[in-house]
Amino acid sequence: MIRVDASKCLGCYSCSNVCPNKFITREETEDRRTIHFARCSEECDLCVEFCPAKALTLVPLDLECEEPSVSFELVPCKICGAKYATEPMLQRVEASLPQELQKDTSGLAWIRICPVCRRDLEAERAAKQLVLGRSRKSL
Ligand code: SF4
Ligand code: SF4
Repeated sequence: MIRVDASKCLGCYSCSNVCPNKFITREETEDRRTIHFARCSEECDLCVEFCPAKALTLVPLDLECEEPSVSFELVPCKICGAKYATEPMLQRVEASLPQELQKDTSGLAWIRICPVCRRDLEAERAAKQLVLGRSRKSL
């Protein structure tokens, strides 16, 4: 079975995505993300291998132990306020990306902006560039 170190978990869902037997399940509300780790009798090791935080280890099956859950409050997007990611996930991206890649071409710090707002901003910028390009051609 697996043991989770809650202090290392990022709440990224990689483990629940790869578990072939649905021992790791997830629950998401508007504000919170929770991952449940059921007692697993398999030892396929996929969740351990795919955990980016090395928060999981394989341990001998113990039928007495509790089945833990790890829960995170979700962080709101700086633009629309929609909650979209866990704080440990965002901190990990910030810690692993060079400073110059943490800002987009307009200088906006994009990590704390949700994917929907990022896409809208990019589309808006692309449309402005297109209009600018056309107006230059017509001069
Ligand atoms: S060891 Fe395999 S079956 Fe068990 S929880 Fe991890 S991914 Fe699922
Ligand atoms: S893969 Fe690791 S870091 Fe991601 S949710 Fe599972 S235990 Fe947590």
